[in-house]
Amino acid sequence: MPSYIAPVDDMMFLFEKLRDNKNYNELEKYKEVSPELVKDILEEAAKINQNLILPLAKAGDENPAILENGIVRTPPGYKEAYQKYIEDGWTSLSCDPKYGGQGMPRTVSAFFDEMISSASLAFKLYSELTLGAYNCIHHHATDEIKNKYLPKMVEGKWSGTMCLTEPVCGTDLGLLKTKAVAQPDGTYKITGQKIFITSGDHDLTENIIHLVIARATDSPKGTKGISLFLVPKFIVKEDGTVGSRNGISTGSIETKMGIKGSATCVLNFDEATGIMIGPKNKGLSQMFTMMNLERIVVGIQGLGISEIAYQNSLNYAKERKQGKSNNNKSENGKADSIIEHADIRKTLLNMKSIIEGERALCFWLSQQTEVSLNHDDQKIKQEALDMVSLMTPVVKSLFSDLGMEITSDAMQIFGGYGYTKDQGIEQLYRDNRITPIYEGTNSVQAADLVFRKLSTKNGNIVDKFMNLIKSETNSDDEKMKPFVDTLNYNLGILKKFSDWTIDKIKTNKDDVSAAANDYLKTLGYISLAFSWIKVLTVSFKDFEENKKFHEDKINTAKFYFEKVLPRAEQHYKSAISGSSNIMNFKFN
Ligand SMILES: Cc1cc2nc3c(=O)[nH]c(=O)nc-3n(C[C@H](O)[C@H](O)[C@H](O)COP(=O)(O)OP(=O)(O)OC[C@H]3O[C@@H](n4cnc5c(N)ncnc54)[C@H](O)[C@@H]3O)c2cc1C
Repeated sequence: MPSYIAPVDDMMFLFEKLRDNKNYNELEKYKEVSPELVKDILEEAAKINQNLILPLAKAGDENPAILENGIVRTPPGYKEAYQKYIEDGWTSLSCDPKYGGQGMPRTVSAFFDEMISSASLAFKLYSELTLGAYNCIHHHATDEIKNKYLPKMVEGKWSGTMCLTEPVCGTDLGLLKTKAVAQPDGTYKITGQKIFITSGDHDLTENIIHLVIARATDSPKGTKGISLFLVPKFIVKEDGTVGSRNGISTGSIETKMGIKGSATCVLNFDEATGIMIGPKNKGLSQMFTMMNLERIVVGIQGLGISEIAYQNSLNYAKERKQGKSNNNKSENGKADSIIEHADIRKTLLNMKSIIEGERALCFWLSQQTEVSLNHDDQKIKQEALDMVSLMTPVVKSLFSDLGMEITSDAMQIFGGYGYTKDQGIEQLYRDNRITPIYEGTNSVQAADLVFRKLSTKNGNIVDKFMNLIKSETNSDDEKMKPFVDTLNYNLGILKKFSDWTIDKIKTNKDDVSAAANDYLKTLGYISLAFSWIKVLTVSFKDFEENKKFHEDKINTAKFYFEKVLPRAEQHYKSAISGSSNIMNFKFN
């Protein structure tokens, strides 16, 4: 089983030294969230993830969730662990105190998301969608509904799901068939089949609150006729207690490559009673409240799995002795630890420089997210929202794709022992493989970025992002100069790539579609460089305070700028060759 030590020091470094967003620091509600409090929370979070949740990863992989006589049973140990998890209040960490939450900002809860993704993604998923459903209800439902449903969800006694996918509709939700028939009492009868529903059924909570998209019988076809419904597994009575079973049954559980402990269900809705949330035919935009926050969390899943893959690779590389390195001076022919080989060192640094850059970028984004949700000044709020909207597809796709690279490299470092099951490394690869697929595939994220985010009614958000980067990077400092110059060079490439894309949107959309993933990667690698610049600024300034820590940061950043960031330009060069050969190619 892989080992895991939560990277609390790195997280605290970010919280103490990089909480630099003036608008975030103005938010009254977070003024009391001090570093001391956050350290206590992270240390407790580390304990529960390292001791209680980590062992569930192997247990869930070896004993997947099963469907038995219509009831879904989670793997051994999940029930007891979930009970402790909710008793300790982890489901309520970032929720509104009005409904029993602890009101922690995302600058804290994102760290928890990372830790639990490292420990066991399959276990995490049972509460993750609850939080997504909570956010959606919190944003769009009436007070009556909020008061009735949210406290139990925040407490973790009830869980939540997101029911979009159907056999005929995956990416293209406009094709959905599930129908909603209005009833005289104002409720709806929901009928249809949803597939691939994460935590669609299980034995951890006393009720499950499904958020379901469906089409009312008099609504138009396509995405313009989609409404959102709250459909509980058990009807909730007036007094808030759980009543009779609603018309929902579990058809089957998917047999999956990874995250086997998570029950991914086919759900059949047979005239199930549902309540419409928000205005009719606006279901998709309401669902996006949930999906957008979820997408960032999926990126964090990739980060979390990458971290545990890196930690184990590093430990193994120090222990495993094979071959002689170029600097081996031993006369008795003793082999070196594989960490002495330049190629292995490069792989480890590749992992580390990406992971720490991602964590810093995520921390920056968490501050922007809080400003976008909570700031009083509408203009500031909108500016932050633009950044969140730009970075959402980047974080989702880049972190999940790099999670594949990193877990694959981890397997490589372990050699044959990585490919076989004993060390648990191949499980990390399998568990991460879903992250580029669900919550909108990574290609769909890339298309969203180039077609909707690059040029919007609020102007070119990428230009705004580049201006923000320039305003926050200082090349006057001699030590920073080489890094800032390299970043500026890459910003020039991003500018050319953006102009090319905007032009092609008007003249050749296939060129844009073929380039979309490359564009996302170019922007992503530059965003990681930006977060490394922020880290470097602190590390040079505070070097004497903690030499070992800052030296490590500076050298890791150097690796990132020399060996990883050049990928940004490679993606640009590949993309601008266009799509004519691709589109004209005759597949046999
Ligand atoms: C383990 C697991 C858990 C899941 N959990 C949930 C859940 O809780 N709730 C839920 O509703 N769904 C869930 N899903 C469904 C998931 O979100 C979908 O599988 C995903 O959105 C892709 O849809 P699809 O599988 O139908 O693929 P398709 O939409 O058929 O796509 C197939 C391929 O075509 C590409 N493609 C499609 N359209 C375009 C386009 N316009 N441009 C470029 N490329 C395109 C895609 O990128 C993909 O590579 C889950 C799936 C799995 C496997």
